Amino acid sequence: MNTQDAIQTEKERQDGTGKSIPRVVIIGAGFGGIRAARALHNAPVQVTVIDRNNHHLFQPLLYQVATAGLSPADISAPIRGILKKQKNTEVVMAEVTGVDLEQRQVLTQKRELPYDYLVVATGASHSYFGHNEWAPYAPGLKSIVDATALRRKILLAFEAAEMAQDEEQRRNLLTFVLVGGGPTGVEMAGAIAELAHKALVSDFRHIDPASARILLVEALPRILPAFPEKLSKKAQQALEHLGVEVCTNSPVEQIDEDGVVIGGQRLVTRNVIWTAGVAASPAGKWLNAEVDRAGRVKVDADLSLPGHPEVFVVGDTASCMQDDKPLPGVAPVAMQEGTYVAEVIAQRVAGKEQPRAFRYKNKGNLATIGRSYGIADVGKLRFGGFIGWIFWWAVHIFFLIGFRNRFLVMFQWAWAYFTYQRGARLITFDPAALQKQKELVEELTSV
Ligand SMILES: Cc1cc2nc3c(=O)[nH]c(=O)nc-3n(C[C@H](O)[C@H](O)[C@H](O)COP(=O)(O)OP(=O)(O)OC[C@H]3O[C@@H](n4cnc5c(N)ncnc54)[C@H](O)[C@@H]3O)c2cc1C
Repeated sequence: MNTQDAIQTEKERQDGTGKSIPRVVIIGAGFGGIRAARALHNAPVQVTVIDRNNHHLFQPLLYQVATAGLSPADISAPIRGILKKQKNTEVVMAEVTGVDLEQRQVLTQKRELPYDYLVVATGASHSYFGHNEWAPYAPGLKSIVDATALRRKILLAFEAAEMAQDEEQRRNLLTFVLVGGGPTGVEMAGAIAELAHKALVSDFRHIDPASARILLVEALPRILPAFPEKLSKKAQQALEHLGVEVCTNSPVEQIDEDGVVIGGQRLVTRNVIWTAGVAASPAGKWLNAEVDRAGRVKVDADLSLPGHPEVFVVGDTASCMQDDKPLPGVAPVAMQEGTYVAEVIAQRVAGKEQPRAFRYKNKGNLATIGRSYGIADVGKLRFGGFIGWIFWWAVHIFFLIGFRNRFLVMFQWAWAYFTYQRGARLITFDPAALQKQKELVEELTSV
């Protein structure tokens, strides 16, 4: 930071009495970061939220973008817009590259940002379980860019199949393999099945989109292992009813340009989608911290970094134990953790006693299969079916940020529910990928 910047920053952080206002820097404006920022709106602190993107993303609905049900803007909201009324908060769009714990500075590609309290909420990325070479052939779903790339891949497969020269080529082009039977895999598989069987069914002249083969492959004995067994069975039946082949006890052995190998059998396809492991962001390295097997930072009971009470880690980046088990990487954990650390910081700044250790209140687990079936594991209630779907729907609408998004998503789901139509069926190309995509289409459709 240059001297002028330093003077300016110092002026900005003085209140009227010349007393220093503590600086809270939050890295990441996902579920955890936004919650922490919002919970600090009345605290006597200067908050800086840094994110590499200009938007907050509602990841649980990414699969809807990837399968052309919703548009990217329906499930995201500008971070500046979310925090615009919060006078004590500024937003910085920058890629964080490290943290200097000694100097108490966050390092970005452009400049260093000093902090008194730091909240790290940088989420997670894909993990290919030591097989990073699979990544180019089995893209995952984490961001808007991933979702639109998958949408392109899925819709292009049908376009290429329409031009295919023989039945075998057509069959290969219309084979979709989802690797990982967690909620994302289940939701994606159901949505692709409905796309093929309903939305696209009368749009092509040379292929029957409903002939698409959709396989959900899971290494464990059952899909949705976080749900009670009875509900995962129900989910499997609902998927099979939609025409999805569910292959459990089937670890993937190889993924390459030509397809996948499962149980020694090769399946020829270009449509492999990774919905399995996640790995934490590189925050563990920035903080030189002890991490768990997934790279998540091991935190103390108040979510602070051991030895650094001024640094907190929340959400998918943190490994927090409760009742001897690590908390899952889900949005409610991140949100509750974000709110909690804001409370800890506000209490400390006010010179009050710190709140009790963090404790996650699990309000339940939900997943949806297709447009009208959901499963819910909520307290003592465990149910599947249309009511489960309504429940899932209501929760997702409630947590979407922004009235516009809630309204648009509600409208589009109602439209899709009655018409089976998917309004966001755009095949878009970014300039860098354009040439590659053209070559792919040419290759796929050549004799
Ligand atoms: C496809 C999908 C479906 C999901 N479905 C569900 C579901 O149904 N229910 C559920 O509860 N959970 C679901 N999850 C999990 C849930 O979304 C995560 O647990 C939650 O987003 C974690 O919140 P977070 O704040 O830790 O991280 P995130 O929400 O991922 O936010 C991290 C933020 O940090 C920013 N960031 C990262 N690195 C940097 C950097 N170096 N510099 C600057 N900014 C950075 C990112 O841009 C992002 O905005 C799903 C996740 C995915 C990917």
